[in-house]
Amino acid sequence: MSDLAASPFDTLLSAPHALTRAACETLDASDPLAPMRDQFVLPDGVIYLDGNSLGPLPKASRERASEVVDIEWGRDLIASWNTHEWFDMPQRLGRKISQLLGGTAGGCVVSDSTSVNVFKAVTAALELQRGDSERTVIISERQNFPSDLYIVEGLRDLLDRGLELRLVDDAAGLQEALGPDVAVVLLTEVNYRTGELWDMTEVTQQVHAAGALVVWDLCHSAGALPITLDESRADFAVGCTYKYLNGGPGAPGFVWVAEQHLATARNPLSGWWGHTRPFAMETGYVPAAGAASFQVGTQPILSLAVCEVGIDMALQTNMRHVREKSLQLTDLCIALLQTRLAEFDLTLVTPREHARRGSQVSVVHPEGYAVMQALIAAGVIGDYREPGVLRFGFTPLFTRFVDVWDAMEVLRDVLTRESYRAQEFQRRGVVT
Ligand SMILES: *Cc1c(COP(=O)(O)O)cnc(C)c1O
Repeated sequence: MSDLAASPFDTLLSAPHALTRAACETLDASDPLAPMRDQFVLPDGVIYLDGNSLGPLPKASRERASEVVDIEWGRDLIASWNTHEWFDMPQRLGRKISQLLGGTAGGCVVSDSTSVNVFKAVTAALELQRGDSERTVIISERQNFPSDLYIVEGLRDLLDRGLELRLVDDAAGLQEALGPDVAVVLLTEVNYRTGELWDMTEVTQQVHAAGALVVWDLCHSAGALPITLDESRADFAVGCTYKYLNGGPGAPGFVWVAEQHLATARNPLSGWWGHTRPFAMETGYVPAAGAASFQVGTQPILSLAVCEVGIDMALQTNMRHVREKSLQLTDLCIALLQTRLAEFDLTLVTPREHARRGSQVSVVHPEGYAVMQALIAAGVIGDYREPGVLRFGFTPLFTRFVDVWDAMEVLRDVLTRESYRAQEFQRRGVVT
């Protein structure tokens, strides 16, 4: 980010007394992404810092939802599979995701949940390594999103061929763990809890040097930072569309396969939508060419239609601007934590270094859960992750600099008055 080196923003951060709400308003006034905010439905009185868990509703998604329900389903019924190109939707959206993630040489489909796609991608990668019987290890991160690890555990037990799941804690641990016994490495580019970012290009090189293949989980990176899948030589990638891509609750995830594996990678879930001629209703399974074979069964068309709106918005946005603003928002949040909230028992767990940070700021507080409930009650929506982590996600498309200021002031108030000690903030819901 060398072009930011001498920016007014850096000057601002280096002079704590200049950090004021008015200074944040000035930053908003010159923000090239500021007009995007108006494209979202954002309830009054709410500062939404949870777009990394569920992106808010784009206004255009409302219209698309009523069109696909009333016209395509309601009026045109089953003909819509052809006339409204429903059948091609997972592939059409996949092409858009490939473009967004710098992976147009590879293939992609938007289909199924990320957890299911982790299963497909890791299994396919393992099968590509099958020729080398010495390679029996799958490496992942101890602090990875649990579902990714649960899927690998299940796969290991299902295949019952002596596979081992080896967990590492950091880049040094990964280096140490890589060896001639490693088949596949499954990493999440941006950690869901800390916001720590792996160097995709460098790590992919290391994995390849050890003769292994890498599956990247991009749930917390797609839509939040520039990604170059082809250039990084990634083997497989999966990710969500309902976080930074604002695709809607439960919108399908994606699975991407690198060019060099398109002809050989096999989807273990050999359903009819991955067949080369699904409507021929043939007896034997013949996989479709390319990433289309990574589909399984009938897709959630309503969700796909709505999710395309979010993907289109990301595609129309300059990801370099998104990344610049994301780093500024997170820098600002960290600076406020260190100045206006320095007296409180808050421990930053997000890396300060730009190259190692995604688009969120996480801090640990001994009463983290209750503090977040008190914040939410006061209109600042972040979320809570065990153990003790207050998580604030910053989506540059709709988050303003004043939102960061105001959110941190509310946090300061909650901690000063200890309002989080109230009984009502101790109770836990099913979903945190
Ligand atoms: C959000 C997230 C998931 C979610 O998976 P689903 O199958 O969509 O529930 C998986 N992995 C990571 C790293 C995530 O952040």
